[in-house]
Amino acid sequence: MHNDDFHLDTLAVRAGIERSQFGEHAEALYLTSSFVFKNAAEAAARFSGSAEGNVYSRFTNPTVTMFEQRLAALEGAEDCLATASGMSAILSCCMGVLSAGDHIVCSQSVFGSTINLFNTILNRFGITTTYVPLHDVAAWQAAVRPNTKLFYVETPSNPLMELADVPALSQVARAAGALLVVDNCFCTPVLQQPLAQGADVVIHSATKYLDGQGRVLGGAVVGSKEFIRGKILPFLRTAGPTLSAFNAWVILKGLETLSLRMERQCANALALAHWLEAHPKVARVYYPGLASHPQHALAQRQQRWGGAVVSFEVVGGRDEAWRVIDHTKLLSITANLGDTKTTITHPASTTHGRITPEARAAAGIQESLIRVAVGLEHITDIQADLSRGLD
Ligand SMILES: *Cc1c(COP(=O)(O)O)cnc(C)c1O
Repeated sequence: MHNDDFHLDTLAVRAGIERSQFGEHAEALYLTSSFVFKNAAEAAARFSGSAEGNVYSRFTNPTVTMFEQRLAALEGAEDCLATASGMSAILSCCMGVLSAGDHIVCSQSVFGSTINLFNTILNRFGITTTYVPLHDVAAWQAAVRPNTKLFYVETPSNPLMELADVPALSQVARAAGALLVVDNCFCTPVLQQPLAQGADVVIHSATKYLDGQGRVLGGAVVGSKEFIRGKILPFLRTAGPTLSAFNAWVILKGLETLSLRMERQCANALALAHWLEAHPKVARVYYPGLASHPQHALAQRQQRWGGAVVSFEVVGGRDEAWRVIDHTKLLSITANLGDTKTTITHPASTTHGRITPEARAAAGIQESLIRVAVGLEHITDIQADLSRGLD
């Protein structure tokens, strides 16, 4: 099938399917570590790369390939490689592109483990990172050095839902000779396709919305065929942070409902954001879909909807925030997100609990802040659950 001929909803259920000789309708799960050859010559040809075909599941596996081809289609990309987790996708990207002495410019509002990877692991191998405010394009420009090879960004950011102007950053990155890498975990290709806006590489934690049902870990690196085959594949097949066939199969089936889930979860999030904004015990709401969001116009240009994560500050401090969390009966108190089940968390004492109070204040993460990753429950039930502690 030619992906260009179809809409995203169609690609989500059809792209990448490779049927076996049995003509199965649903995507098959190939639980096999290795593949057999007709004869010694075929084995030699596959090993040398002169013949196409599977050899060993650390390199390729048909179920994993189906997931990769489907996600590439959704992102409007030439190619994709799946990894064991979102973090191993980020690691694979860095290991494929960077060498000792290279430099990263990174948004200061990225996933905590990403900052740990850059600061405590890559740093040991002579790779340094400068952190800049996500929305300040001039700061990105000013941070560029002759050895800058990578710009790294999440948009919107967690938990304050700030946006990066992807086309503007891509111009700065291109002029610097650096790759712009966008972690598209929060939006998924249903809301935004960063490659079409000028990004060079897209990273996914498939653990979140792509699976969407909180079952397995997975990740992916998405980009041009030349980049994926030339830079990512050599690291992945050698070092082995490969996605398991079983997890690929689970996420592949997750993609079939991605568009439906995102549409409903974003609609629920918008309704919740409006409701919170009108609530007397809520001091401030952070949601790009609200007209009160400072980057609402950019959000409307860049994203299809506001996303499924809403953060808000209650009137008061930590005690009042914890009260709201502790009075919920339906919502899950967990730092995870991207699930059909709504989750609630207190960033200042969990995801952002290990940074100093000064760094937290600089990042704008107040003790009164609560993050809700909105799921598929009925919106009235979600509001009722939050009302108990707020009222
Ligand atoms: C969860 C997350 C990751 C890491 O993904 P894992 O699958 O947990 O390794 C990376 N980026 C963002 C934005 C995430 O939310």
